[in-house]
Amino acid sequence: MVHYVELLSDAYLVCMSHALSTEKEEVMGLLMGELMDNKLMCIISAYAMRRSDKQADRVEISPEQLSAAAIEAERLTVKLGRPVRVVGWYHSHPHITVWPSHVDVGTQADYQMMDPNFIGLIFSCFNEADKKQRVQVICFQSIATNSEPRYEHIQLPLRVLPTPRATVGAVCLEALTHLPQILLEEEKEVYTKSQENQKDLLALVHNSGVYSQSLTHMLQVVATPLMQTMERELEANRITLEELRRKKEKLLETLQQLDSSS
Ligand SMILES: [Zn+2]
Repeated sequence: MVHYVELLSDAYLVCMSHALSTEKEEVMGLLMGELMDNKLMCIISAYAMRRSDKQADRVEISPEQLSAAAIEAERLTVKLGRPVRVVGWYHSHPHITVWPSHVDVGTQADYQMMDPNFIGLIFSCFNEADKKQRVQVICFQSIATNSEPRYEHIQLPLRVLPTPRATVGAVCLEALTHLPQILLEEEKEVYTKSQENQKDLLALVHNSGVYSQSLTHMLQVVATPLMQTMERELEANRITLEELRRKKEKLLETLQQLDSSS
């Protein structure tokens, strides 16, 4: 039984980058982590999913995507030497409050049938109700009720845990680079579908135009800022590396002096 949830700050960065990639539709993904002492759910990475159904309030995971995520969890288990599993899902609420809809509570209940410890995160962003550009996140689970509606949500305490030296770990770095790729595939899928059996020349040209516009938008709001963040991260790592090298040299010098004086 999960009592509380910890989300590593770099995993939070992955979810947030995904949630902020579009204000038009909800985005979703799966959470990778480990249940500790049967009460603390520790989320170490997130896996962005391609939307199979691009409707405003519908987020669904296809079986193929679920199995891809399970394979990814197995890979992380080997890489990190700890039992990583798919432990939950996240989705965004652009322009609306953070609270789960009845569809969300139902979806969550379905997941909990397969795994009682499965958790859900919701990120609310682009909410105009408050003018502060505030981002809100909650963690929830569903519980059965005796009356209609059959399920309601309960909130779980969520803590965002800083990573050492506020860096992005290797696992989340991979998840971040996976993000533009997923968004690209989504756009490509929609475009390919729109061109199928399309005979009208104007429509063909129009669809291509929309496609290039979406790709440019993705480059502008996701890929480029991501690259800039990575470059800054690289620079910070270079400085740390240089500092550590200097420290090492100093320590070796002290060691030599101690050796020669003894
Ligand atoms: Zn929702």
